[in-house]
Amino acid sequence: MHVPFLDLKAINAPYMAAFEKAAAEVIQSGWYIQGTKLKEFETAFAAYCGVKHCIGVGNGLEALALVLQAWVETGKLTEGDEVLVPANTYIASILAITKAGLKAILVEPDAQSFNLCPKAAEAAITPKTKAMMPVHLYGQLADMTALKALTDKHNLLVLEDAAQAHGASRGGIKAGAFGDAAGFSFYPGKNLGALGDGGAITTNDDALAKALYALRNYGSEQKYYNVYKGTNSRLDEIQAAFLNIKLEGLDAQTARRIEIAKAYDAGIQNDAIQKPMWAGEGDHVFHLYVVRTANREALQNHLKAQDIETLIHYPVVPHKQKAYPEYAHLSLPVTESIHEQVLSLPMGPHLSDAQVQAVIKACNAY
Ligand SMILES: *Cc1c(COP(=O)(O)O)cnc(C)c1O
Repeated sequence: MHVPFLDLKAINAPYMAAFEKAAAEVIQSGWYIQGTKLKEFETAFAAYCGVKHCIGVGNGLEALALVLQAWVETGKLTEGDEVLVPANTYIASILAITKAGLKAILVEPDAQSFNLCPKAAEAAITPKTKAMMPVHLYGQLADMTALKALTDKHNLLVLEDAAQAHGASRGGIKAGAFGDAAGFSFYPGKNLGALGDGGAITTNDDALAKALYALRNYGSEQKYYNVYKGTNSRLDEIQAAFLNIKLEGLDAQTARRIEIAKAYDAGIQNDAIQKPMWAGEGDHVFHLYVVRTANREALQNHLKAQDIETLIHYPVVPHKQKAYPEYAHLSLPVTESIHEQVLSLPMGPHLSDAQVQAVIKACNAY
């Protein structure tokens, strides 16, 4: 049976009629940037995350980078300050830090959860460390209780990279509400995906929100008067209109992801395949279902032979990327072994029960 890794057409199909109506409204309004659809989405997403402010921006990378730039502009950070970030994250987390003129300190993750290890983070703190960027990787919340204890103790700013974790929650607190600010991505393949690029920042900090509204729009608070050397990074009206519709369906889609994860957890019984560790209900929204295996290529080929698509998140560690020669000397054994062994199984609301069972069967036959 063909099991696609992801099928955006199928994921978006149920919304087609609502999308067409919303697109027509935007087109006929004659207002395409920073209008009522954006405001509506910002209000709804802030409420969804349980924070005071949501600032729509062009994409997830800029969401993260703009928060850091805002902290530099407002004197909370100084160029060259150190920001702790998990070494096994997607490259965008690190790009955001270096784009803002800050120094990314790559910290080993916890081998079980794939998320930033509080002990390793504490060991990496120096007098220059001023911020931490926990990443809720694959959709699972980082250990925010332990990490917040650390950042409180050392007076560090916290920027969550929540690009993969829309709606994940622990103790009634949602991703995007743990830190001083958070960055989200609405890239089409993310759990809350637009029909193009999109991103947002969430925060409870009034002054930060004010700076960010300006920074995303040339650094201008009032048209043609510029307070900061800002950028142009806005969430388009038409994308905001689509996201308003998709936000309403997010919890149901997340529930389906969790249902599939539970089926994989219960069904896959093969000592060669290590299933993901997750603590409990709701704190993992399964953007990805990532297993570990000693001989990844063999497992990937075995599944491919049965028409099951898998992907690797991510095949090259950030510190071995050509873009970052300054990190090439680092030895990060936990990160490196994760990168050699991880394989992402098909995951998403596009999967049928029969497809999920086909994946389980194929894994058990490996
Ligand atoms: C997708 C992603 C980003 C970047 O989001 P874009 O919208 O693609 O720029 C940042 N961090 C993580 C962990 C991501 O998965």
